[in-house]
Amino acid sequence: MKACLLRTPAKIETNPLQFMEVEEPRPAAGEVRVRVHVCGVCRTDLHVIEGELPPRKSPVIPGHQVVGSVEECGRDAKRFVVGARVGIAWLHKTDGTCEYCRRGEENLCDAPEFTGYTANGGYAESVVAPESFVYPLPEGFRDEQAAPLLCAGIIGYRCLRMAQVEKGGKLGLYGFGAAGHVAIQVARYWGSDVYASTRDERHRRLAMELGAKWAGGTLEAPPEKLDAAVVFAPAGEIVPAALKALRKGGRLILGGIHMSPIPSFGYDLLYQERMIRSVANNTRQDGEEFLRLAAQIPVRTHVQVYPLREANQALNALKNDAIPGAAVLRVNS
Ligand SMILES: [Zn+2]
Ligand SMILES: [Zn+2]
Repeated sequence: MKACLLRTPAKIETNPLQFMEVEEPRPAAGEVRVRVHVCGVCRTDLHVIEGELPPRKSPVIPGHQVVGSVEECGRDAKRFVVGARVGIAWLHKTDGTCEYCRRGEENLCDAPEFTGYTANGGYAESVVAPESFVYPLPEGFRDEQAAPLLCAGIIGYRCLRMAQVEKGGKLGLYGFGAAGHVAIQVARYWGSDVYASTRDERHRRLAMELGAKWAGGTLEAPPEKLDAAVVFAPAGEIVPAALKALRKGGRLILGGIHMSPIPSFGYDLLYQERMIRSVANNTRQDGEEFLRLAAQIPVRTHVQVYPLREANQALNALKNDAIPGAAVLRVNS
């Protein structure tokens, strides 16, 4: 099968993904093999490719927002019929036995596997995954529309839950890429006013189109104090600026897996019961809840589609803020 393979992490400008022929995977017991229709491109893929996340498997096929159809079921895999449309997300597998898994916090598992990082992902014609970590996909979304829901959407949803978004509340979104453009639709559906802070003019325009009350530069002060804010951009200097924008008792949620160092700041920015909390991965329950909600709203994703062989170009564009919404790779049609 054809796949985009990463041998050694390197800057995306050097086009480190190799489009090449690799051996097709076979599903082990409890796994399914999925024929990939499309795979979303996530900033985390960039962190894997550029080595900001320490390499865990080499070579590796990135990609963790897979939409495809089941084409082979391994031994004892009975959940899906061949041909069922499914999604594969970042959380590939957990041990199911550690204290976090037992507490229902599988997103914090001590021995997790991640799609496109510790296990091969969806920048390929097919991929295998444990059937219990595969999502049935709701009708009503075309493949390329559904792909960004699987990470940008699910993680954004977990962030919004942590932010305790309320009807009539004021929510800040810092960074307005794939996750932001889905999160605003959920927050608006819940009746919250959204203030979008992002460095790129195209992203500010998209935020206003999607119903933001205000859109400004990343470090610009929003016109109102915020009840909560979510930071999707991986830039630590946003943290003090976002804290400054919060009302007393406000909540700041950090949605990224990687962030540049946070500059030091005076205690007065945090005092008055403001809170900072990071979000790590997601549980399967987050995924199931969000996919149901996305179908109900319904969330409309803005996507820019690239062929699989142009994965490097898609990632370069993502790095340069040149994608309004989300980038998606088309693999099999
Ligand atoms: Zn565990
Ligand atoms: Zn992701």
